[in-house]
Amino acid sequence: MATKVNGDGLRQRTASSQSNGKVVAPSEEGKKIDQKLDQHLEYEFGGPAGVIAIMTGFPILMYYLWICLVFYDGQLVFPKSSDDIVPFFGRMWEHVRVDASPNLYAWKVYGGLIIYQLFLAWWVPGYMQEGLPVPSLGYKTLMYKCNAIGCIYITWVTAAVLHYTGIFRLTEIIDNFGHLMTVAMIVGFGVTIGMYFLTVTFGNPIRMSGNFIYDVFMGACLNPRLGPIDLKMWLEVRIPWVLVFFMSVSGACKQYETYGYVTPNMAFMCLATWLYLNACIKGEECIPQTWDMFHEKWGFLVIFWNFAGVPFSYIYSVVYMASHDPSHYKFSTPTYVVLYATLLTAYYIWDTSMSQKSRFKMQTQGIFTYRKTFPQLPWNVVNNPRFVQTAHGNRLLVDGWWRYSRKPNYVADWTMSLTWGLCIGAASPIPYFYSVFFIVVLIHRCGRDFERCAVKYGKDWEKYCSIVKYKFIPGIY
Ligand code: NDP
Repeated sequence: MATKVNGDGLRQRTASSQSNGKVVAPSEEGKKIDQKLDQHLEYEFGGPAGVIAIMTGFPILMYYLWICLVFYDGQLVFPKSSDDIVPFFGRMWEHVRVDASPNLYAWKVYGGLIIYQLFLAWWVPGYMQEGLPVPSLGYKTLMYKCNAIGCIYITWVTAAVLHYTGIFRLTEIIDNFGHLMTVAMIVGFGVTIGMYFLTVTFGNPIRMSGNFIYDVFMGACLNPRLGPIDLKMWLEVRIPWVLVFFMSVSGACKQYETYGYVTPNMAFMCLATWLYLNACIKGEECIPQTWDMFHEKWGFLVIFWNFAGVPFSYIYSVVYMASHDPSHYKFSTPTYVVLYATLLTAYYIWDTSMSQKSRFKMQTQGIFTYRKTFPQLPWNVVNNPRFVQTAHGNRLLVDGWWRYSRKPNYVADWTMSLTWGLCIGAASPIPYFYSVFFIVVLIHRCGRDFERCAVKYGKDWEKYCSIVKYKFIPGIY
């Protein structure tokens, strides 16, 4: 094997092993651990009661925040007195019933996007990427058709044509936010339930707890596929981040139509959402190596959040700016400079850290080829990376950004989410929902991930943690 052991017990890949690596099959011990990890071990998310609370609470919260944002000037509203509780809920319900009804128009727009994205994903040629060996499939690897870049460029052109011909004005997206949100939620619930029953009836359910509601929440199926499309990877990008980007463009068009110009704040959101979407499409071959793809099943958690949660709760700042006078969120030039610089710095760390880890995994597996998509940033691959060789067979990178903390990608991603709220300053607290929610998600996810890695790698995980001491921010935590 083309590795050498350093004095500190770490291994360093030589140049030859990077270009000509080999599959590192798990050891027998590693296989036993993988088998254990593919069974239901314990309830997460507070078990059945917790997941019922999440499945009912989140849609309600999303409606509440949207109503406050659009109908109450971006301020959180509560019943004024105990006598006002019933009328308060009556007013809230009226907004949902009238302004967020799942009307035919919203079904056409949202349904049209889904069908168009499925059609493109099926039809457009793409780069074929081999995934990680899947323990539940006897360590078989699955192939992923990475054609998001072609599909999304075609979608951008299609949207521009529809907008300029007047067939579908992009401003209509933000104008129909409530209706689209309800349709997205219905689709999220529908696909979750449908997928659950399809998998338990005809598929290959894994890690099942036996509790119906909990299994619907976590999902039954690990690798849902439709022809050449990996549905889980398709849904990670093609609906949520596409919608988030188009909503920002929709907000910018709305501002332009109303005021004759686009504010730097709205332009910031267009840039931020474009960066995120573009990162997902130009580095799509790095997605099969992420936790969602190799570990998380396709249940409510992933399905609902991608269909409805991400697109309808992450860009509240855009919704606010599209309906409020720019004087509410006007900054000085230096503030804009700091805001843009923070976004770009966080983006750089996020992009390159994700790339370093995913490409390291590909190198280890011997399947790394350099894909030239735009932009490929400096330091997105670490040459001769140092790593910990585990008894399981996998390797843990302790180089590049990964030498500073165990989750540099989370810190950078969270910083970006914070800027998505900061771009409207103190005009409304609601756009900060994304960063508050996201930090809870990331801390919880990190706990779940580290517990799993501690079981998977045992003493090697302890060694890794003693080398990379900090979880998030070096020197602090
Ligand atoms: P990671 O990319 O950190 O992946 C975690 C897995 O990677 C671990 O289980 C382990 O798997 C492996 N791993 C961890 N450390 C190392 C290492 N040093 N060397 C090699 N392998 C390692 O997390 P996620 O997949 O959760 O997140 C991916 C991105 O998606 C993040 O940037 C996150 O912020 C983003 N995200 C965004 C969301 C949003 O709504 N905006 C929601 C969720 C995630 P193993 O060893 O078993 O292979």
